[in-house]
Amino acid sequence: MWDFSTEPAFERQLDWMREFVRAEIWPLETLALEHAALRLALAPIQAEVKRRGLWAAHLPPHLGGSGFGQVKLGLMHEILGSSPLGPIGFGNQAPDSGNSEILALAGTPEQRRRWLGPLLAGEIMSCFSMTERERAGSDPTVLDTTATLDGDTWLIEGEKWFSSNASVADLLIVVATTDQDAAPHRRASMFLVPADTAGVEVIRDIPTIEHPWPSFGVYGNHAEVRYEGVRVPREALLGERGGAFAIAQERLGPGRIHHCMRWLGVSRRAFDMLCERATYRVAQNELLGEKGVVRSWIADSAAEMSAARLMTLHAAWKIDTVGARAARAEISMIKFFGAQVLHRVVDRALQIHGSLGYSTDLPLEAMYRAARGARFYDGPDEVHRDLVARLILREYQPPDDGVPTEHVPTRRAAAEARFASFLDAATANG
Ligand SMILES: Cc1cc2nc3c(=O)[nH]c(=O)nc-3n(C[C@H](O)[C@H](O)[C@H](O)COP(=O)(O)OP(=O)(O)OC[C@H]3O[C@@H](n4cnc5c(N)ncnc54)[C@H](O)[C@@H]3O)c2cc1C
Repeated sequence: MWDFSTEPAFERQLDWMREFVRAEIWPLETLALEHAALRLALAPIQAEVKRRGLWAAHLPPHLGGSGFGQVKLGLMHEILGSSPLGPIGFGNQAPDSGNSEILALAGTPEQRRRWLGPLLAGEIMSCFSMTERERAGSDPTVLDTTATLDGDTWLIEGEKWFSSNASVADLLIVVATTDQDAAPHRRASMFLVPADTAGVEVIRDIPTIEHPWPSFGVYGNHAEVRYEGVRVPREALLGERGGAFAIAQERLGPGRIHHCMRWLGVSRRAFDMLCERATYRVAQNELLGEKGVVRSWIADSAAEMSAARLMTLHAAWKIDTVGARAARAEISMIKFFGAQVLHRVVDRALQIHGSLGYSTDLPLEAMYRAARGARFYDGPDEVHRDLVARLILREYQPPDDGVPTEHVPTRRAAAEARFASFLDAATANG
């Protein structure tokens, strides 16, 4: 069963967002602003978004958000995702949006007062610090970073990497092993660590495919962080001891919907460039749009984006109606499918632009580089495929006697037995 549509009033809000993001946010992309300058440039945009009641739409109103639910939020992310600066303009950029969700979900009233309020107001930035270089991030049940209760303080020791925004964050949510001998999914806990705590050292922002040149303190960078003799009070524990995995699962479901819809925003922008190029570039005396291969790219891209969009909205609708746990298969399906659609559409758009697409004169090369990470952050494709297959296979049983259910000779023998009288009559008449 499925049933989702958009109310006309919200459709008008989406129209406004489409226009606003294109007119006010896209131009900022071209300026390569430093963090402080970016905050200044975004301030009036964020004020306008707040004025229209569209700020921090990922949380319910009693926690300071607009409380849209995942379908509306997904449609909104599709528009915001068209620009890397769209989400921050609307107060629901990763990882702050996910972090505010887990603070809302698991935080004590005091933790929410201290961190959630300022985070939602856009006054501070946060980081989610879980992945470690020496351990498989796709299996977060094994972490070398430890937190030990020592009197009234937790002592945190370890090293993390790919902690997005750690070099600009005020708050680090650190995932550390608290009970090595517990069941795998009960070993780790989450801690709220102010970035200026003694012993927290942001070693470097890691140059990546997306940002290959060394830089530090830039929004969107991914940092290597050392936690050495870091002491935080007992109350810094977020949620229950051993609860990190359960909290992370709650956070990641909706987060993946937002990623997929943002990727559709990027795909759409790349697709528009692909189609525009097809209308004016001439090779061998014909427009590129007249060549069969280009028409296939356009048709395939449109079909793939449409499929990904419907699958994502369906997963969002399922989260809204029956919860993230019941929507696990749909969420995983869209995570690996959506990442591939993004990759393919951007690749085709880059290809049709030739050397121009390869150059930084168009945003396609940056989209292409950013798209690569989508295939493993928030869970590699292989892990999501594995989960989908596991959930599907639960619905199947081995056939009796090892004979496939659809085995034609077996079915024919059964049909001959069942319809024997009819077959006898037909043979006699013949
Ligand atoms: C842009 C970006 C931002 C990130 N931001 C953060 C952040 O803010 N905080 C944070 O803590 N981490 C962050 N990460 C890290 C991310 O979560 C990890 O990269 C991811 O979990 C994979 O872990 P890994 O890199 O250790 O790869 P590994 O776990 O070592 O996996 C490597 C490869 O092994 C294969 N593989 C793994 N498991 C299976 C399986 N079950 N079946 C088949 N093949 C498998 C896959 O091909 C996978 O890509 C970020 C990463 C990127 C790229």
